[in-house]
This record gives sequence, structure tokens and C-alpha cells, in this order.
Amino acid sequence: MTTARRGGPWGWFSDFDGTIAEQDMNRAILMHFVPEQAEPLIRAVNQRELSVREGLERMFGLIPSRWLDDIRAYALREVRLRPGFGEFVNRVHAEGDRLWVVSSGFSFFLEPVLAPWADRLTLYCNRLDPSGDYLRVIWPHPCDEQCHADCGLCKPTIQRRHRAEVTKVITIGDGVTDFEAAAHADFVFARAALLEHCGAEGYPHAAFETFHDIVAQWQAPLTAERETGGNRG
Ligand SMILES: [Mg+2]
Ligand SMILES: [Zn+2]
Repeated sequence: MTTARRGGPWGWFSDFDGTIAEQDMNRAILMHFVPEQAEPLIRAVNQRELSVREGLERMFGLIPSRWLDDIRAYALREVRLRPGFGEFVNRVHAEGDRLWVVSSGFSFFLEPVLAPWADRLTLYCNRLDPSGDYLRVIWPHPCDEQCHADCGLCKPTIQRRHRAEVTKVITIGDGVTDFEAAAHADFVFARAALLEHCGAEGYPHAAFETFHDIVAQWQAPLTAERETGGNRG
């Protein structure tokens, strides 16, 4: 299975909502529990009129803390993983690569959902503080001094933190929360809005719908390097 390539491990940085999970679980939670108030805020974030950080703080701040157990039960019942994720994780492991799941979602359901692969990936995500009357978002991984996008959880910051450990940075994602990470990656596997964005910006990328597609295009980052003549920044 292992292929002849590169002089060291690749770093795979994957989004969760709309990427590993078929739907955006933050959006699903908000549209189930506070639909009228959340809908215009979701639209503003997607149109980049509101930062991801401010949008998520305002939306989750609408939810009474006493609802958290119901929200966890709802999220665990609704979440569906995109086909091929287990095969993908095993391939990453077999190649000696590293996998980071970098999500604007929350630990209260991401940790149980990803528990079967806990020894093969590292999770970066946010936490919810239920100690007040309403939920409060805690951001343990904010933007570094090089990022001014007000990400909340900053994906390019995390990619920079680990860049020296890998020979290639590969971003996997689907939406607006991945735009900054894609701009700083060597290669992008993209679907939905991120796919359009990569095309418009000219980033080296390939489309995917399932993780089987990514495994089938395992060498695509090498091919793109030949076409573009080398790594960027
Ligand atoms: Mg997403
Ligand atoms: Zn940032």
C-alpha cells in the first residue's frame, strides 16, 4: 500500500462539519434549537459580513445552558460521517502521515464521535461553558499574530504550528471556515463552497465528495507540485 514518494510525513488537516460529517453540525444544532434568531446570523457569516468568531459567539449565546444535554443527544443522534473516513484514517496511519481534525465545532460531541480513532488523530476544537444562564463559547486556539481574519478557532495558526513536523500541508474542507487554511496549504481537497473558492483563487486542489475519493487521489498533491513547480510559502 505504501507508495514511493517524499522524504517525510505529510500533514493532513481536516475540517469536521460538512467534511468528515455530511452536514454542518453547528448549523444543524442552531437551526433545530434557535432557528429564527440563528438563520440571519448564519447567512451573515457565510457571506463574510460577520467573522466566524463573532457569529458563533452570538448564536450559541442565544441558547440556555440547561439545554446542553438535549443538544448533545440531538447532535449524536443526527451526525452522519462521510463514507470512507475510516479507510482514510487507516491509510494516513499506514503511510506514517499525521492527521489533525481542526473544527469550529465543540468538544461535547466531537470527542465522542471521533473516539474510535482517538489514537490516530489529534483534535483541535472549541468548548462550551454552561456555567452561566446561556452558553458561552471558549476559544482555546485563537489567531496568531500572522492572521487577522478573526477566525475564533484559527486553522492557519494550527497549520503553522505543525508545519515543521511534516513535509506537506494538505487541507481538507468544504466551506468559509476553511478559506484561510486553504490559502496557506500546499494542496487542498475541497467540496462545496471551498471547491469554488479554490478554483477562483487558483489554489492547487482536487474535488472530493467521499473519503474514498481522497484515498483514490492519494498522489494528487505530488502531481500538483510538478505542475506548479514547487511548494508555496
Ligand atoms: Mg465545514
Ligand atoms: Zn485566524
